[in-house]
Amino acid sequence: MLKANYHTHTYRCRHATGTEREYIETAIAAGMTTLGFSDHCPQLFPGDYYSDYRMYPDQTEDYVNTLLSLREEYKDRIEIRIGYETEYYPEIFDAFLQFVGQYPCDYLILGQHFLDNETTRRYSGRKNEDENYLADYVNQVSEAMRTGRFTYIAHPELQNYVGDPAVYRREYTRLIRCAMETGTPLEINLLGIRGNRHYPNEAFWALAGELGADVVIGCDAHEACCVCDIPAYEKAMALVQRYSLRLVQPVLKAPF
Ligand SMILES: [Zn+2]
Ligand SMILES: [Zn+2]
Repeated sequence: MLKANYHTHTYRCRHATGTEREYIETAIAAGMTTLGFSDHCPQLFPGDYYSDYRMYPDQTEDYVNTLLSLREEYKDRIEIRIGYETEYYPEIFDAFLQFVGQYPCDYLILGQHFLDNETTRRYSGRKNEDENYLADYVNQVSEAMRTGRFTYIAHPELQNYVGDPAVYRREYTRLIRCAMETGTPLEINLLGIRGNRHYPNEAFWALAGELGADVVIGCDAHEACCVCDIPAYEKAMALVQRYSLRLVQPVLKAPF
């Protein structure tokens, strides 16, 4: 099983369950040495819009304080890291950094669930044959990587383009090349395997292997048991073998 996992949620995002302690105990029982929490980050949207899948800004202090106290309590048994899974929304990214930067934070991972600034609600994972939509996704994720703030990209092939394979290859080649240029690993997402989602996508990982990108594995745990999901992990490792992927340990980039 993984020695370190940096993709873990908490109940604050309103679609994960259990206490932080349960996730930590599961990780220790599985022999892990590091557990990073990366709940869906707070965002400061203008007006009265608010996402329903992330913590509210006024929960941030509790999130950080809870993890700081558990980090201290468990320091002899496991290393706890504090981060966020964050979108890159250009209009509110600076406000986000300023807000979250008030609290201790070890890292950010990018999960680009929506394009533009979210409020138009274009969920990146919906099935489509619109090559412009795929290109927009690749552009936005590439711009995010170039900020240098992200430790890695969660489920990089979230954009679910099912049209011409040549277009898929062309656009995702751009994304993978940018990841390599900016030193940003790409994540094989165990939630996608567990949930039989459209990711991991074989064509994407074949391409990542061909180009030689750095790859990490993330649990994307929304329940404590998923911190140690051996069948999903074995499928991810089979993917690594199949496409000779360069599996690396994430090196946390301090975002501030
Ligand atoms: Zn989630
Ligand atoms: Zn996640």
